[in-house]
Amino acid sequence: MGRNFFVGGNWKMNGSLAQVKSLVAQLNNTVIPSGTEVVISPPAIYIDRVRQELKPEIGVAAQNSYTKASGAFTGEISPEQLKDLGIDWVILGHSERREYFNESDEFVGEKTAHALAAGVSVIACIGEKLEERETDKTTEVVTRQLKGIADKINDWTNVVVAYEPVWAIGTGKVATPDQAQEVHATLRKWLADNVSESVAESTRIIYGGSVNGSNAAELAKKEDIDGFLVGGACLKPEFSNIIAARL
Ligand code: PGA
Repeated sequence: MGRNFFVGGNWKMNGSLAQVKSLVAQLNNTVIPSGTEVVISPPAIYIDRVRQELKPEIGVAAQNSYTKASGAFTGEISPEQLKDLGIDWVILGHSERREYFNESDEFVGEKTAHALAAGVSVIACIGEKLEERETDKTTEVVTRQLKGIADKINDWTNVVVAYEPVWAIGTGKVATPDQAQEVHATLRKWLADNVSESVAESTRIIYGGSVNGSNAAELAKKEDIDGFLVGGACLKPEFSNIIAARL
């Protein structure tokens, strides 16, 4: 297929200076298999330190960015500022931001467009809630969220789509490989039908939600699962097993 495997680690609002030191040391000692791309996402306050201390072959992502380059937007960070510090990635539209900070599909699309225009690659997150899955709305929800992004961008080269069912995030209830594959295939088909065959073929679609060192290898065997976005387990030594999941 030619899509490089992608493993993202989302620290969320976790960590301390002491933990930054030990996690960076662990990552610097981890062998990154060829054909696998690893990007970690510390909280903004630690991002510069992590970028300076981490080996260059591992990328660093912010957990959010705004739609403007600069200005009176207290508390926000622009993709241009990320670039200034050598931060090449940003996670946008994570379900926690959609849920707790009321981010709409449209706003996530706008932030994605602005980050890409500034030269920052985007891990764009989508995923259904439990009640949406239970009422058979999964396809409707994830394609609506994907459309929110597709409406605002033309070039998908620097986008990784992260399918993260909300019911699987932080719950220990991982989607089965078949459940994840089914949604990934639906998303790829949506891209083929609504963007282009070549974008569908080349865009990485990664899975997130309770991925750990024991379940990653089985998930990684599925043809449309191109990697993972990892929360809890990226703060533990087992993250190196996830990095090595596609053998
Ligand atoms: P989790 O989080 O691995 O702790 O379930 C995944 C995510 O939110 O990206």
